[in-house]
Amino acid sequence: MRPPEFDRDGADLAEEMIPCLSVRQPYAWLISHCIKPVENRTWSTKFRGRVLIHAGVTYSKRDHLDDLESWRHLGYPEDRESMVGGIVGEAVITDCVKQHPSEYFFGPYGFVLDQAKAFERLIPYGGRLGFFGVPSSVLAGVSHKVAYVKSQGQTRKHHCHWPGCTAQCPPAMWGCTRHWYALPKDLRDRIWRTYVPGQEVKGTPSAAYLEAAQAVQAWILHHLANTPAPATTPQQEGLF
Ligand SMILES: [Zn+2]
Repeated sequence: MRPPEFDRDGADLAEEMIPCLSVRQPYAWLISHCIKPVENRTWSTKFRGRVLIHAGVTYSKRDHLDDLESWRHLGYPEDRESMVGGIVGEAVITDCVKQHPSEYFFGPYGFVLDQAKAFERLIPYGGRLGFFGVPSSVLAGVSHKVAYVKSQGQTRKHHCHWPGCTAQCPPAMWGCTRHWYALPKDLRDRIWRTYVPGQEVKGTPSAAYLEAAQAVQAWILHHLANTPAPATTPQQEGLF
């Protein structure tokens, strides 16, 4: 058994890491298009769940032309460059088997894949052997913002925006690690999408960001309604 090993670089931001598996083309394409339902490995895994499909860079022009001939009718990409060196889709690993009826199975182990989905376009990313972690911000297209926020320090007094939390955190961050991850993922994604690097310096958050921050406060108040902790009413100046 080889457990997933997630790269925890940047753990100071405590970003969520999504497991990813690198696969050579054309297999990454075939998997993400629900044609290949099993991925062969020399090692077994107990991991079950969502996994990103990464396409490695090794893919000769000759192989690409052969594959294009085979699967052009299924929409196989004519541009080889657009399908190597990045994340191309995702699937759910539901089982790890030693036997499988698929013509693509040759073992010795097969990771059974379900609910495969191809991404609209490749997300450039370096691959690694085995399972590796990809920060969720890479998928949200906000990795440059994460890099910026990570580089920011405690430039002035600024506390977590969770009502009642006095933990200091850099002005570029919404709040302390504990409370940030207490928020639902869709709200955290919305904050990332609407956050503009530097807004906390200029003091000019966009209307979209303020709306997102309001939505967060509304969620927190609703969440706290079932707990004895007192909740405060958010003020606009306290939103960023
Ligand atoms: Zn906090």
